[in-house]
Amino acid sequence: MSNRQMKTDVILIGAGIMSATLGSLLKELVPEWKITVIEKLASAGEESSNEWNNAGTGHSSLCELNYTVEKSDGSIDISKAIKTNEEFQVSKQFWSYLVNSKLIRNPQDFISPLPHMSLVQGAQNVAFLKKRFEALTNNPLFQGMEYSDDPAKLAEWIPLIMKDRELNEPIAATRIESGTDVNFGALTRNLFAHLKDQNADILYKHSVDDIKRASDGSWELKVRNLDSGSVDHHSAKFVFIGAGGGSLHLLQKSGIPEGRGIGGFPVSGIFMVCQKPEIVEQHFAKVYGKAPVGAPPMSVPHLDTRFIDKKKSLFFGPFAGFSPKFLKTGSMFDLITSVKTDNLVTMLAAGSKNMSLTKYLIKEVMLSKEQRMEALREFVPNAKSEDWELVVAGQRVQVIKDTAAGKGTLQFGTELVSAADGSIAALLGASPGASTAVSVMLDLIKKCFPQQVKAWEPKIKEMIPSFGVSLLKNPELIKQIDSSTARALGLVENLPLTVASRTVS
Ligand SMILES: Cc1cc2nc3c(=O)[nH]c(=O)nc-3n(C[C@H](O)[C@H](O)[C@H](O)COP(=O)(O)OP(=O)(O)OC[C@H]3O[C@@H](n4cnc5c(N)ncnc54)[C@H](O)[C@@H]3O)c2cc1C
Repeated sequence: MSNRQMKTDVILIGAGIMSATLGSLLKELVPEWKITVIEKLASAGEESSNEWNNAGTGHSSLCELNYTVEKSDGSIDISKAIKTNEEFQVSKQFWSYLVNSKLIRNPQDFISPLPHMSLVQGAQNVAFLKKRFEALTNNPLFQGMEYSDDPAKLAEWIPLIMKDRELNEPIAATRIESGTDVNFGALTRNLFAHLKDQNADILYKHSVDDIKRASDGSWELKVRNLDSGSVDHHSAKFVFIGAGGGSLHLLQKSGIPEGRGIGGFPVSGIFMVCQKPEIVEQHFAKVYGKAPVGAPPMSVPHLDTRFIDKKKSLFFGPFAGFSPKFLKTGSMFDLITSVKTDNLVTMLAAGSKNMSLTKYLIKEVMLSKEQRMEALREFVPNAKSEDWELVVAGQRVQVIKDTAAGKGTLQFGTELVSAADGSIAALLGASPGASTAVSVMLDLIKKCFPQQVKAWEPKIKEMIPSFGVSLLKNPELIKQIDSSTARALGLVENLPLTVASRTVS
C-alpha cells in the first residue's frame, strides 16, 4: 500500500462547476501555480453540476418569481433580482472571455438562447405579476420583457400550456427572449478539458478522506485511490473544498473555527422528463410558476425546454423530497454523521422550527407518478402519463446556522466559509448555484488572496469588464456587455421594446 507525500500549490476538492471555475480563473491569474484536482467519481461534472441533475436555468431573475417579493406596502422589492442578474452577467463575461481566447470551444454545446417566462393564474397573482413586470421593465437590466394577459397571445408564446386549458380565471405571463438554458455538465467538462491542457493534475476515482493543518500552516489531505485502495498524502498552501454536498463533512474535518456550528439539511429533487419529439416541438421556453404554499423556494414548478446531447427535451419540476444523503452518490448516514457537538443545538433548533418543511418534503417524496402528473397537468392540461418519465435530480444541502433571525435558521442561498488566513475555503448551499459560480469564486479570490488581488485586478477586468462596477449605475456598460456576450456565446441581445409592444391585454 503506497503512502506517498505530494506537494502542490492549490488543491481543488471535487470536479464540479465550482472547482472548474476557480481553477480556470486561477490559471489565467497565475499560470505558474500547480493545481491538483481530487474527485471521487470517474469523471467531471457527475454530481449536482450534471445536466440531468439540475434545471439548467441561467438564473438572472428574468422568470423566477421568488427573487421578487411583494412588500407590505404593496410595492415589489427587486434587489435580489438585480443581484442575481448582475451575477449572471459576470458568468457570461468570463465564459465569453474563455471562448474568445479559444480556451474553451463550442459555446453552443453549453449555453442556448431560450425565452424565460413567468406564468400565473388567479386575479391576485396576475396583479402581482403586472406589478413585478412594471418594476423590472423600468430597469436597464431587464429590458426587452413583455407582459400579456391575452389568452390568444399566450397561445402564441406557449401553445402546449394553453392547449385544452379551461380559462375560468385570469391568466397572465411575462416573456423575455434573452434568457438561457445552460448545460452546466457540458460546461464543467469543457472547463476541465481546458485545465488538463494547462497541465492541472486531475485525479479521478480518488476520495479525500481527511484534512489536517500541518505545522508550517499548509494543509495535508489524506487521499484514497478508490481502485487500488492505496492512500497518499497531498499538501498545499491553499485548498478549496468544492465537494458540493460533500463539503460540509470536509469543512468539519478541517477543524477551522469558521466552520463550527454550521449544519446541513438535504433536499432531494425529481424531474418529469418528456423526450417525444411531437410534444417537445410544441414548447420553447422556460416557464416558471409560483411555488405551492409551504413549499421551499427551490421547488418552484417550471416547464423547461432543455438542450442535452444536441437534443431537445422537456423537463418539469423539480419536485422536492427528502433523503438523508448529501450527494446523489452519497450515504444514508450523511445527515446523521454531520451532527457534531458544535452544531447539535443549532440542528435541534432547526429541526423543531422546520417540522412543517420536513413534513412537506416527506409528503412530496411519497407522491405517486399519477399525483405528480396532476401537478404537471396544471402546466400541460392534456399531459399523458406514458409520455413522461421520472428522473432523479441532484441533492442540495441547505445550510443551517444561527443568524439574527434565530437559532438553527435554514438558509436557501450559497455560503462561502473560509479560514481567517485565507488558506482554505468551502462552498456550501446550492442556490442560485451554478449560474453564479464566477461571482462566487471571485468573492473567494478576494477573501483568500487579499494581498494578490490588487496586482491581479487588471487581468480580472480584462476577463470581466464589469468587475468591481455596479452595472445598474452604468447602463452603457450593460449594453456593451450584453452585445459582446451575445456575440461570443450565440445568445439573444436584451433589446428594449417600445412601450406599445411591451404590454398586450
Ligand atoms: C434539482 C436541482 C436543480 C438545480 N437547478 C439549478 C439551475 O437551474 N441553475 C443553477 O444555476 N443551479 C442549479 N442548481 C444548483 C447547481 O446544480 C449547484 O449549485 C452546482 O452544480 C454545485 O456545483 P459544485 O461544483 O459545488 O458541486 P457538484 O457539482 O456536486 O460537485 C462536487 C463534486 O465533489 C465530489 N466530491 C464530494 N466529496 C468528495 C470527496 N470527499 N473527495 C473527492 N471528491 C468529492 C463529488 O463527487 C462531485 O463531483 C440545481 C441543483 C439541483 C440539485
